[in-house]
Amino acid sequence: MLTAICVYCGSTSGTGTMYVDAAENLGLEFTKRNIALIYGGGSIGLMGRIANAVHNGGGKVLGVIPAALEPEAISGITPGRVVVTSDMHERKAIMAANSDGFVALPGGFGTLEELFEIITWRQLGEHAKPVGLLNVSGFFDSLLAFLQEVVDAGFISTAVLSNLLIDSDAARLLDRMNNYNSA
Ligand code: AMP
Repeated sequence: MLTAICVYCGSTSGTGTMYVDAAENLGLEFTKRNIALIYGGGSIGLMGRIANAVHNGGGKVLGVIPAALEPEAISGITPGRVVVTSDMHERKAIMAANSDGFVALPGGFGTLEELFEIITWRQLGEHAKPVGLLNVSGFFDSLLAFLQEVVDAGFISTAVLSNLLIDSDAARLLDRMNNYNSA
């Protein structure tokens, strides 16, 4: 059973209420299942929504934040334990080391970079942990269509792409991640 999941998501909230709802709903699933949230720290955007949902529901939260982003005026307050790192590389390594699975929610470059990095580490065999994509209201449909084009063009193998667990429903995604049989 997964006990700590790292969530990558927007440092803004997006333009639709469905993104905020999805972040809070995933947080509720974490508290129901006793899964600790590992994330980038602070209380802004979707990051803040899921962190507060987990914390207010009595769950464990660990925010890992680089010193440059740590000031409250930049990222807000982390509702839980905080680890301050010297840079982004150290942050991402600590987030990954403390997690036994990863979920990406809608977000921007930061989220996409973190998702691609962790799936690349999976491809290179640096970890064998499940990586999930919560496809809220089809947010990732065009990215997934592009990734299929990359497979068709021969730059990603079908097997590697299938390591990415994609679902529109948080509870089902977590169930699938729990059942994930690492290669
Ligand atoms: P983005 O998707 O571009 O909004 O970036 C969000 C991701 O990048 C998060 O998962 C964080 O790890 C990181 N990040 C970007 N901006 C911040 C911030 N101001 N405070 C904390 N983490 C951030």
